[in-house]
Amino acid sequence: MMTQEPIIQMEHVKQYFEIRDSKGKKGKLKAVDDVTLTVKKGETFGIVGESGCGKSTLGKTMLNLGAITDGTIIIDGQDVSAFKNRKEKVAFGSKVQLVFQDPSACLNPRNKIRGILAEPFQIHHKKDMTKDEIESEIDRLLTMVGLAPEYKNRYPHEMSGGQKQRIGIARALALKPDIIICDEPVSALDVSIQAQVINLLVELQEQMNLTYFFISHDLGVVYHLCDRIAVMYLGNIVELANRDALYNDTLHPYTKALISAAPTIDKEKIDRIVLTGDVPSPANPPKGCKFHTRCPFAMEKCKTDIPELLEVKDNHFVACHLHNKEE
Ligand code: SF4
Repeated sequence: MMTQEPIIQMEHVKQYFEIRDSKGKKGKLKAVDDVTLTVKKGETFGIVGESGCGKSTLGKTMLNLGAITDGTIIIDGQDVSAFKNRKEKVAFGSKVQLVFQDPSACLNPRNKIRGILAEPFQIHHKKDMTKDEIESEIDRLLTMVGLAPEYKNRYPHEMSGGQKQRIGIARALALKPDIIICDEPVSALDVSIQAQVINLLVELQEQMNLTYFFISHDLGVVYHLCDRIAVMYLGNIVELANRDALYNDTLHPYTKALISAAPTIDKEKIDRIVLTGDVPSPANPPKGCKFHTRCPFAMEKCKTDIPELLEVKDNHFVACHLHNKEE
């Protein structure tokens, strides 16, 4: 159940990567560029945006303990961005787990499911768990994700996409985390299977009081699942609001464009915007409002002035000159 207690607090988080262009000239790719947000305990917090907007990198900053470019990340009261040594990271490591888009990425094809699910216990509880205890944990995890314990004798290639994603979820749950980063967890699955995996995530959240940081390009999925949603464009949050406010009182032109393009959402309440052009490169983003090259409402000042993310209605934040009353 969602509480008001913060579990993730990000302050001015930046994650830059060094890159070289085709001529060998050094540059910086600003994948996450000054993000501040708070996630509450038990909440499902959605992050949406097109591919390349920085949403996956933002999720992974919580796993890059001590290795972000700048800013602070506090998780459950601990400043994880200040971690220096391996011991601190390992002690903390089980609190946040990741469910991947492609479950095969975390399932060693040469390992049976038993071995895959035993691994977290072998790494973190090598000395204090017997083989039998690990075996019974594996059975418990399989049952939790709706698979019979006999599945532990199979190899990943003997399972369907949906079953593999259930194993990915079971593996993420093994060490009883508080937070799960779900990075496009259903986008590689058939539509009929997507609903089953989403329902499973909802059930597990209730049972284990989990907090989800749910990353997706699909506004339909995010709408059904999330309490609050942040929309990202080229490394920045451009709109952040409760789910209903984001869909029924959409403010940012980019959010309107994403909703216009989402096949499963009723668009009666918004002015449709069809986006043209690709997302500009985060290595060389436009000046001013980064969205001005694609925005149908762009004004002169949008080409030079960066809009600040401001709270313009109760708990509804937007970064757009159209909504800054002081300008
Ligand atoms: Fe469009 Fe200007 Fe608002 Fe950016 S600041 S979204 S360019 S109107």
